[in-house]
Amino acid sequence: MEPALYIVATPIGNLADISRRAVEVLGAADLVAAEDTRHTGQLLTTLDIRATLVAYHEHSAPAVGERLRDVVAKGQCVVLVSDAGTPTISDPGYRLVRAVQEAGLPVVPVPGACALIAALSASGLPSDRFSFGGFLPSKREARRQRLTLAARARETQLFYEAPHRIRDTLRDLVAICGPEREGGIARELTKRFETVRRAPVGDLLAWVEGDSNQERGEIVLMLAPVPGT
Ligand code: SAM
Repeated sequence: MEPALYIVATPIGNLADISRRAVEVLGAADLVAAEDTRHTGQLLTTLDIRATLVAYHEHSAPAVGERLRDVVAKGQCVVLVSDAGTPTISDPGYRLVRAVQEAGLPVVPVPGACALIAALSASGLPSDRFSFGGFLPSKREARRQRLTLAARARETQLFYEAPHRIRDTLRDLVAICGPEREGGIARELTKRFETVRRAPVGDLLAWVEGDSNQERGEIVLMLAPVPGT
C-alpha cells in the first residue's frame, strides 16, 4: 500500500456496511488513529484485524497530529477512523488532513457510510442541492437563529440533532416555518429501530410527541427548501 494518510469510513450501525477496501486498508495499516481506541479496537477484533492503535480526537494536542504526519513522511501508512461513519464529517480529523497535505504527502479517502448522506438518500426530499449544518447549537436562541436561516434556504437542509432536543427543535421549526413545510427525520439508520419519515414539520412534531421512542438514538433532521424555489 502506498504510504499515505487513509481516511477510512466505518459503519454507522450495521457492521456489514464496512467495505472490502476498508478491511484491506485497515489490515495493511502501520498505525490506526482512532477517536476512541477501545471502540475501534472492538471493531478491529470483529474484523479479525490486529493493528497498532493510537488515540486521535478533538482534544488531541497538535503534537499528536505532527507525530502521525511524521509516520507518513517516514513511508508508513496511517489510517484515520472515527467512532462511526466518515472521519472529519462532524468528527475530528480535518486538521490532520491539512498537516499531512502541507507536508506534501498523500491523503487517500476510503469512502463508506455517512449518516447525512444515508438520511438524505432515503428521505424523498430534493437532493440535487443540499446543505449540511452539522450539529445544531444546544442553546435555544442560537438554535432558533440557525433554524431561521435554514427556513429561508433554497436547498434541503440537514442537521445532526441530539435525541433529547428533537422535540424542542421541531417545536421551534413549526413556529419558524409553519406546520406545513416538509421535513424529515432519519433515526437509528442501519440499526434495528431504523426509522425514516418525511412529513410536514407539524406532523413530525405530533408524531414525536406521541411516541417517546422517537426521542431515542441517533438522529438526522431534514428540512425541505422554501416551496417553489
Ligand atoms: N462521522 C459521522 C458520519 O459520517 O455520519 C457523524 C459523526 S457525529 C459525531 C454523530 C452524529 O451523526 C449523531 O449524533 C447523529 O446525529 C448522526 N448519526 C450517526 N449515526 C447515525 C445513525 N445510525 N442514524 C442516524 N443518525 C446518525
